[in-house]
Amino acid sequence: MSAAPGAVLLDALGTLVTFAPPAPRLRALLAERHGVGVTLDEAQAAMRAEIAHYRRHHDRAVDAASLAALRRECAAVLRDALPPAARDAVSADALVPTLLDAIAFSAYPEAAEVLDALRGRGHPLAVVSNWDVSLHGVLRDTGLAGRVDVVVTSAELGAAKPDPAPLRAALRALGAPAAGARHVGDTPSEDVAAARAAGVEPVLVVRDGAAPPPGVRAIRDLRGLLDAPAALR
Ligand SMILES: [Mg+2]
Repeated sequence: MSAAPGAVLLDALGTLVTFAPPAPRLRALLAERHGVGVTLDEAQAAMRAEIAHYRRHHDRAVDAASLAALRRECAAVLRDALPPAARDAVSADALVPTLLDAIAFSAYPEAAEVLDALRGRGHPLAVVSNWDVSLHGVLRDTGLAGRVDVVVTSAELGAAKPDPAPLRAALRALGAPAAGARHVGDTPSEDVAAARAAGVEPVLVVRDGAAPPPGVRAIRDLRGLLDAPAALR
């Protein structure tokens, strides 16, 4: 049995990174770049349609070409969901950069310091996310990419949590066993389920303080991983 510190696998959205509500920014960008005026409700409705389409199809974006195709498709869905006058004033192609700029990802304030501290304690670190290939760029832009050893996306792997395959792929890439490893995430139906199926201990991030499922260790933010050294070793 190895005494090496266990691997720590971390979900991305809601765990390491978040994004500001995109509708107000979309509304401002539509006005600035395209001379199109919409209400906040209209911008929200269009973003909801786009996000629903993206969630259904993001695992198709496995490389630069398929990512570009998905983004064009999402921009078309966004455009179709705008009021007629706005829709007629912009093309889907012109909306692609506007859509991307409306969704601004940022790392949670404690994410970088906690990753550095975990690495300092010798834990192998991986991000395991249901995300398209663009996650690598998001982690780079938010300053987190260099702080983890491995990044596994569902799109590139062809399997998504709650399937345990992404967690197993991360452990393989890290050369770490499931025994002693943790998977940290914010979605019980994906993160806790995948962790249990992979034989990895789940740790649930509950930033809103909601009660975790029975028997699941919960932390309010990532600093909770450092506050309980007896539990995370
Ligand atoms: Mg999440």
